[in-house]
Amino acid sequence: MHVDATTNRTAEQPAVPPRIGRLYELASNLWWSWHEDGRQVFRSLDYALWRSTGHNPIKQLRRIDPEKLRSAAADLGFLELYDSVMMRFDADMSGESAWFSQVHRGKLNGPVAYFSPEFAIHGSLPIYAGGLGVMAGDMCKESSDLGLPLVGVGFMYPLGYFQQRVSAEGWQEEIGTQLNFLEAPISPCPFPEACGPLVSVELADKTLYVTSWLVRVGRVDLYLLDTNVEANAPIDRTLSARLYTANPEERMQQLIVLGICGVRVLRSLGISPAVWHANEDHTSFMMVERLREEMGKGLPFERAMQNVRSTTVFTTHTPVAAGHNILAEEQLDRHFRRFVDGLGIDRQKFFDLGHYAGLERGRFSLTAMALRLAGRSNAVSRIHGQVTRKMWHVLWPQKTETDVPIIHITNGVHLPTWQAREIAELCHASTGQEVLERQDDPEFWRCVADLSDEEFWRVHLLLKTRLIRLLQDRAQQRWAQTGASTQQVMAMGTLLDPYVLTIAFARRFTEYKRPGLVMRDLERLKKITNDPERPVQMIFAGKSHPADQSGKELLRQVYLPASDRQFQCRIAFVEDYDMHLAREIVRGVDVWLNIPRRLQEACGTSGMKASMNGVLHFSVRDGWWDEGYNGANGWAIGDTQVRGHEAEDRADIESLYDLLEKEIVPLYYDRDRQGVPHGWVRTAKEAIRSITPAFCTCRMVKEYTERMYLGAEKPGTKDSGPIEVSGGRYE
Ligand SMILES: *Cc1c(COP(=O)(O)O)cnc(C)c1O
Repeated sequence: MHVDATTNRTAEQPAVPPRIGRLYELASNLWWSWHEDGRQVFRSLDYALWRSTGHNPIKQLRRIDPEKLRSAAADLGFLELYDSVMMRFDADMSGESAWFSQVHRGKLNGPVAYFSPEFAIHGSLPIYAGGLGVMAGDMCKESSDLGLPLVGVGFMYPLGYFQQRVSAEGWQEEIGTQLNFLEAPISPCPFPEACGPLVSVELADKTLYVTSWLVRVGRVDLYLLDTNVEANAPIDRTLSARLYTANPEERMQQLIVLGICGVRVLRSLGISPAVWHANEDHTSFMMVERLREEMGKGLPFERAMQNVRSTTVFTTHTPVAAGHNILAEEQLDRHFRRFVDGLGIDRQKFFDLGHYAGLERGRFSLTAMALRLAGRSNAVSRIHGQVTRKMWHVLWPQKTETDVPIIHITNGVHLPTWQAREIAELCHASTGQEVLERQDDPEFWRCVADLSDEEFWRVHLLLKTRLIRLLQDRAQQRWAQTGASTQQVMAMGTLLDPYVLTIAFARRFTEYKRPGLVMRDLERLKKITNDPERPVQMIFAGKSHPADQSGKELLRQVYLPASDRQFQCRIAFVEDYDMHLAREIVRGVDVWLNIPRRLQEACGTSGMKASMNGVLHFSVRDGWWDEGYNGANGWAIGDTQVRGHEAEDRADIESLYDLLEKEIVPLYYDRDRQGVPHGWVRTAKEAIRSITPAFCTCRMVKEYTERMYLGAEKPGTKDSGPIEVSGGRYE
């Protein structure tokens, strides 16, 4: 059996002159994407091509005029850049001087295997839908930076999520695009000769074969599972094609592939993880496969379970009961019958892993199972920790709610990916220190207060102007490629003005995020946006899940004012929110708005990205903002005591408009003779100072390492204690 010819990369590589012969190696490791000088290498080879390929060096190298490569190889300036980048790359890849090697060398006897349903690393690999994927991608990059040994396991979705367009009437249109494997930063997984490129899993009535792709993320190897192989029936070949399929049978099979084949792929590669980390419940069949492995060694069920627990970490991201994966026992039984019989345990015992008091009979909760099979579990913000302990108290009825063994580790964002280089450079110039080495040190960030207001504001305006140029560029391309009405082109933000106070709302369009809330009182909004002296602009962006009809309605509610002349082009809806747009937008606006329904945003990370760029967070105190807000680094909307959806909506919208009119707009337009808003700049600096060290992934990965990974591998230490399983008790 061999990998399908359509997906097997033909080794057609550009003829790169030997002097710069490692260009392809550099392009094949996404390390370049978070190193400015790495990006500069490709940018400077052929800027026009760099842009037109969407910043994809693999694509660029396949298409570049060989003459450009020859001329680069003879250009002293380029060679100097190239040599210094390759030196830095080699140093980073050795990991010798990184934090983990310095502080914890030898404490893990294998890598952390990090399983996640999506990974957002770079735009050239669109295998993510939103925040969960961004968090996983940032986790890989940071692990590489810190020298933490980690391998990722995910899914190859050649159809990815979808590209979004919005019709003149405001309806989302979903466009599927097939990833061109030849131009993506992936390569066939280097399986040892003996095992070949396939692993398999037995389902109800068939064997499913899976191959894997390798993505290099600095020192971290990410393995992406793919069912598109000849050995599978046509219908199974597309199983891994799409992220989050709505079909329950397909979904079930995806979960099995991700969890079970994920473990098997690592085993075939000879990788022996010390810790197994399941990011969200989609990945938790990984634990079942390891249970099977342990029982295969002849251990009884309880002992096998103990071994799995002592090496397993689980992170839950879902504060709403409906968000967890609930499977039908009947379906589970069909697929797992042979598997469970092979374990030699009673099927009921297996089903009990996913049961809890109050769950409908015949249902199986993947999160409940994961909480039972993981010795250490965590939520992703302080509030989410409380919500999660309350929600899952049912699994530990003998404990008080506060003693439920689920801690919280608040998410963070990867600084070099999300903070504008220009801002880091200001801090570097003022201190002479390497920003990345000090990023989680609150002392270091005091330096921001000393930056000149004029210089700071100049940089901010530069980033803002760049964003507006990008939006115009996108609108121009959309107009040229697909045609669009004038109204649509205006709605894309072509007439935005860098002088005007600009607020962004960009994230998934779904009910609990309340994207339509701002549109509740259009007259009042119009007064705010159209004020002749102190106008306000708003930029909206975000996709709605194809099956989420109410999300699409919300999107339309926002789109219609954007295309309505009454709002004088002060409101924009930008299509196709993705990582690239996110990067530009979190640094290029003045205010970052977030209005989720309380207790429903597990953490939220986009506001952290904005705050690290001095873009002020304007949000209800949910998720991370309850920890991040200090009274002087942004604004908190509404009152945390209000209960009931309608009352909460009313109170929040009132507070939102009020803060805008009375505080935000006046502060922004309070300028000196040079046009610098000193009060605003003070707040922006305070945001960077207070938020960056606490919410960078550097802090987060260190916390995962020290609280979850180290010691997780030693059975019995700091374990979360015995748990109840429907009357049975597992120690
Ligand atoms: C950061 C990010 C998110 C998460 O945003 P939230 O506001 O936390 O939901 C989603 N999508 C993209 C592309 C991002 O970069």
